[in-house]
Amino acid sequence: MLEITNAKMMYGDLVAVDHLSFTIKPGEIFGLLGTNGAGKTTTFRMIMGLLEPTEGTVLYNGQKVGYHNVNEIGYMIEERSLLTRITVKELMLYFGQLKDMEPKVILERLDYWLKRFDIVAYKDKKIKELSKGNQQKIQFISAIINNPKLLVLDEPFSGLDPINTELFVSVIRDFQKNGSMVVFSSHQLDHVESFCEKIIVLEKGKAIIEGELKNIKKEFRKKKIRIVGNADPDVLRNIEGVYQVLENANEMIVKIEDDSVATKVFNYIKTLDDIQTYDVEEASLSEIFIAKVGNHHEEV
Ligand code: ATP
Repeated sequence: MLEITNAKMMYGDLVAVDHLSFTIKPGEIFGLLGTNGAGKTTTFRMIMGLLEPTEGTVLYNGQKVGYHNVNEIGYMIEERSLLTRITVKELMLYFGQLKDMEPKVILERLDYWLKRFDIVAYKDKKIKELSKGNQQKIQFISAIINNPKLLVLDEPFSGLDPINTELFVSVIRDFQKNGSMVVFSSHQLDHVESFCEKIIVLEKGKAIIEGELKNIKKEFRKKKIRIVGNADPDVLRNIEGVYQVLENANEMIVKIEDDSVATKVFNYIKTLDDIQTYDVEEASLSEIFIAKVGNHHEEV
């Protein structure tokens, strides 16, 4: 289990992480989300034992992370800085041996992962000859080559296309199925809604949203109604409890304060002939975030 308890980290006067607490159990995928500078990388550095918290504790199976247990952990750092003049094979031998792995085992696992990531042809190529996305795959493989029981991934998906994102997600899920703990960061809030159950959203070092994603969504009473067809946006705007109406190309999104407003909107829609579909949806994580911290952070 990974237990972060009241962790605070200060850089001089700046509070980068402010009394953060969460736990991750074997078989859980945990999302640490938030805008740029929210404190995600700092949290990972505390988990990895690279930074000592100013207050609080960070414990992996009851102990601090250090030389004695780091072989069980995989860490993908945010900076995409690999040793670029050596080959993929040389790089993996280097990282694997840092984790006390036998060269034979490293090379067997490398072959498996290169195949799974569809980059077998790059094994003897220099890192600098690979595209950015393929370098990212290599960096990911270097974090999982030791079959970690705790996998710490700082912005693993940034810059990946949807197909490669799916590929990364399927590998992360396999680690989850095998009982590993996974913690990853992202500033793309909606992007992660589909695959992690527990999250914390950080804002200026503080947890502003936390818990099980399904509960967070259920507790957030604001909803939206998607209407495909011809409704009058001004009539919708005048319904009490409707706080925003967005007119998109083929649909209208009506944002409502809570479920009770839906009946009023439906009563209006039923008077119209030209409506193809309408449905109530839960708010997205970005919408919840914006509602909590204000509109100055649309770009999350
Ligand atoms: P991003 O998504 O941009 O990577 P982040 O959520 O990972 O951001 P951190 O890198 O943890 O955020 O930074 C948290 C805060 O601490 C920021 O205000 C940052 O400027 C500051 N900070 C980070 N590292 C240092 C450092 N070594 N010295 C001083 N301040 C730092």
